[in-house]
Amino acid sequence: MAGRPLPPGAVIGMLGGGQLGRMTALAAANLGYRTHVYCPEPDAPAAQVTARATTAAYDDWAALDAFADAVDVATYEFENIPFATAERIAARVPLMPSTEALRICQNRLREKAFCRDLEIPTARWAEVDGPPALRAALAEIGAPAVLKTVEQGYDGKGQSAITADSDPDAVWAALASGAAKPLCIFESFVDFALEISVIVARAPDGATRSYPPVENRHRNHILDQTIVPAPISPAVAERAEAIATRLAERLALVGLLAVEMFVTAEGELLVNELAPRPHNSGHWSIDACRTSQFEQLVRAIAGLPLGSTERLSDAVMQNLLGDEAEGALDRLAEPEAKLHLYGKAEARPGRKMGHVTRLLDKS
Ligand code: AMP
Repeated sequence: MAGRPLPPGAVIGMLGGGQLGRMTALAAANLGYRTHVYCPEPDAPAAQVTARATTAAYDDWAALDAFADAVDVATYEFENIPFATAERIAARVPLMPSTEALRICQNRLREKAFCRDLEIPTARWAEVDGPPALRAALAEIGAPAVLKTVEQGYDGKGQSAITADSDPDAVWAALASGAAKPLCIFESFVDFALEISVIVARAPDGATRSYPPVENRHRNHILDQTIVPAPISPAVAERAEAIATRLAERLALVGLLAVEMFVTAEGELLVNELAPRPHNSGHWSIDACRTSQFEQLVRAIAGLPLGSTERLSDAVMQNLLGDEAEGALDRLAEPEAKLHLYGKAEARPGRKMGHVTRLLDKS
């Protein structure tokens, strides 16, 4: 596809209908593209902003085939789409990022092994498939630690804190019960100074552009605030961008890769998680960057030149979770605030309803 950009009017297929898909569809529209959203939920946030949407299950092969035939390229807005679904689409239409990148990023063990093979530091970890392996990991790596399900975890779901007093049988029963073939990763607890993320875009011709590292502050394991730029030295920022870029290159990924990292007090960087899609910690880029992460994703998968990732101002992005979105329109009175609401009707606790980006003078 390199050298042959997608012409205006072409259709981008989006697997997943959440806010990331919605903001990507809006960016695609700005560049003259149409977006066709595929997701199981009716009236999804992404489907609200585009005329083309398929409401069907991820294992409805007939609906998936019809969707693939109706789009020119396809992408996804979350990495937990069933792998077989991604493969089905990729057999009929270019899917970016590739199924191979997705296969690695869907699975915490594969992510960690991928980093290890590149000699990119992470927390110490071990694969755990039952209480005996959990005991062995505790003996070898020690506590405090975190036990995480290998797949399908997000926003702190599928995680359990481990202390020296934890009962391996009870921890395992609580975390892994219900899964058909439970597999977990045991990670040493990192006593980090702060958490950062870097988003990098990679084009079909191999060109890359990374966004400046940002600090992410969590509440109840869910992203609460993103501080732009992250308060780290230029040398640490440069290393963080280099790590993210190297990962995107080695994954041969076309699209976006978000890399979450821990920064220790000594300035050491440990990779925590990879996401091959737009990321909540990049929402600030809509209002404070020359090219938003969403436009950048569209540019990458459409074979257009990547845009400048220059930061135009400092920013603080605040997620609006659950009933925090009540009265959100009051934020419009604040001149430095940019409000984004995702069109979700029901404000369940912890649900991402929208965000506000406060623009601050550039430091
Ligand atoms: P994750 O789902 O892996 O992104 O984890 C969610 C959050 O839990 C992270 O953003 C951290 O705040 C915390 N966390 C996860 N893993 C570790 C770890 N190994 N050490 C310390 N904190 C962790």
